[in-house]
Amino acid sequence: MKTSRPIRARIAPAAILHNYRLAKRHAPQSKAWAVIKANAYGHGQWRAVDALRNEADGFALLECENAVALREAGVTQPILMLEGIFSARDARAVIEHRLTSVIHCPEQLELLVRNGRFDTPISLCLKLNTGMNRLGFTATTLPKAWETLQQLPQVDVTLMTHFAEADGERGVSWQLEGFRKLAGDWAGPVSLGNSAAILRHPDAHGDWVRPGIMLYGASPFADQSAVELGLQSVMTLESAIIGVQELAAGDRVGYGGTFTADRAMRIGVVACGYADGYPRHAPTGTPIAVMGRRTRTVGRVSMDMLACDLTDIPEAGIGSPVTLWGQGIAGTVPADEVATAAGTIAYELFCAVAPRVPVVVDQPDVAGRP
Ligand SMILES: *Cc1c(COP(=O)(O)O)cnc(C)c1O
Repeated sequence: MKTSRPIRARIAPAAILHNYRLAKRHAPQSKAWAVIKANAYGHGQWRAVDALRNEADGFALLECENAVALREAGVTQPILMLEGIFSARDARAVIEHRLTSVIHCPEQLELLVRNGRFDTPISLCLKLNTGMNRLGFTATTLPKAWETLQQLPQVDVTLMTHFAEADGERGVSWQLEGFRKLAGDWAGPVSLGNSAAILRHPDAHGDWVRPGIMLYGASPFADQSAVELGLQSVMTLESAIIGVQELAAGDRVGYGGTFTADRAMRIGVVACGYADGYPRHAPTGTPIAVMGRRTRTVGRVSMDMLACDLTDIPEAGIGSPVTLWGQGIAGTVPADEVATAAGTIAYELFCAVAPRVPVVVDQPDVAGRP
């Protein structure tokens, strides 16, 4: 619903395409499953699909129903179900719609074998647990799975694992070692890298990479910014100033009075709160931009509003545009910086944008350029 309340999430599909191409340049030998789970990390599944439809080698998501919807919308590329099947119905749909299902445990393999038909080719991604200890077969459960798979005709298997610390100091080599041990002399296709591995570990890509967060223009790293990586911001959360308060030294702001003015100050009240998806834990000092100038939030974020410091932006007043994060007319504030200030990651900020926030999709200009 378009509302007159000024908050908007602005989406730039051209930036998704730019970021996908950047992933492919980092992994030139690999195909890529564009990860569009969680409603494309809050950007809108169909917006991401439309942006990448002619270019992505495949798409990765969670729900079988969504995978089928992509097929019904004419998507012909491989579609990977990252958590595999959940029901007998999913098992049948995987075969009927030529979906690629992860199989991560013996029970799931059993569910597929009992309910699937195997007279047409089927693609599976067998997930190996190499140290993340979330999903995947281990040295104990893998041999029996191999046995079962060998009895199925026309099954294409890709071996896959997921990295727990590709963005951190420990890196991926320890998991690659575990992968080699489990995979033995496997010569078939493998799928390894997430965004962090794509950008930082060229030895950990495999035949298929799985870029997620980088498509949406945020950095998977705490120590390297999206701009430094060449990524373009996709989502801009923008709003406007709807109230102004003049404070004297000693005045406090917001619930709990967690911020006290130490001098005369001018405060802007922004139409954006935690019910819009802005993190309530963002403390005083979280970056925000007003009329092209960077400033800081002050006091506690409330449900529908937050406050920012306008003392050094005298030209700002009611109606002035605000960028909460992203790259907007009111300025640029990397989502990663807001996330860091709030003790979280941009993934969570994007996914948390509330349904009440109207979305505006940037259109390419008349010449078709982004
Ligand atoms: C979400 C997910 C990805 C994408 O991770 P990013 O860090 O967003 O690039 C890749 N692989 C699997 C299995 C995932 O669940």
